[in-house]
Amino acid sequence: MQKINIAIDGYSSTGKSTLARQLAAALGYVYIDSGAMYRAVTLYALQHDLLEPEKLLGKLASIELRFDLNPENHKSEIHLNGKNVEKQIRSLEVSRKVSEISAIAEVRHKLVALQRSMGKEKGVVMDGRDIGTVVFPDADLKIFMTASPEIRANRRYKELLEKGDSVSYEAVLQNVRHRDNLDSTREMSPLKKADDAIEVDNSDMSLKEQFERIHAHALRVIAQKEKAPS
Ligand code: C5P
Repeated sequence: MQKINIAIDGYSSTGKSTLARQLAAALGYVYIDSGAMYRAVTLYALQHDLLEPEKLLGKLASIELRFDLNPENHKSEIHLNGKNVEKQIRSLEVSRKVSEISAIAEVRHKLVALQRSMGKEKGVVMDGRDIGTVVFPDADLKIFMTASPEIRANRRYKELLEKGDSVSYEAVLQNVRHRDNLDSTREMSPLKKADDAIEVDNSDMSLKEQFERIHAHALRVIAQKEKAPS
């Protein structure tokens, strides 16, 4: 059966990872969270006091990233130099710095190369900011997700509360707006919809409705590919 790569981009907290994970499970594809990779590099920079680009550049080669399946929850989780950092990378501290770190050209070169190698065999659902525009410009299916900043901040706020983080809604909303701004105005690979991406505003859409719509579409794209293999 023909496999395709699926690129899911969009603003922070639009539910990209939930959708990407669901699609990968339904299609038997591999899910890759590219944001986790930028977050892991940011965590490394915070841990080693390397927040200034000049300091970080010399150490980029010492950063080894890998996704490994966690046998307890069957989720693929990110490992930084052999250590599972899936929880640590979701903190507000990392969220506050990640957009600055991800604007550094050398960081992007390193991670984009890694992401492309992961998608070489196809059968990958990857979510991020530049997947449809830069990482997989030839992806057969591209989705661009949006929702209002308030709705997104509310989703993230609830997630952080559930994890036991004591944050205020205002701080989360401010972070969402700040990252939107940095991600879409940076010089290299800014967040933008690819011309051939399907835009999905899920402000008023349930997860189920969203999944069913996009899953059905993915199946149509795969069926078309089967009929006319390239
Ligand atoms: O997806 P998530 O919100 O976890 O991503 C964290 C940050 O990583 C984003 O705000 C963005 O700055 C950066 N990122 C990126 N390119 C990607 C994925 C994430 O610049 N492909």
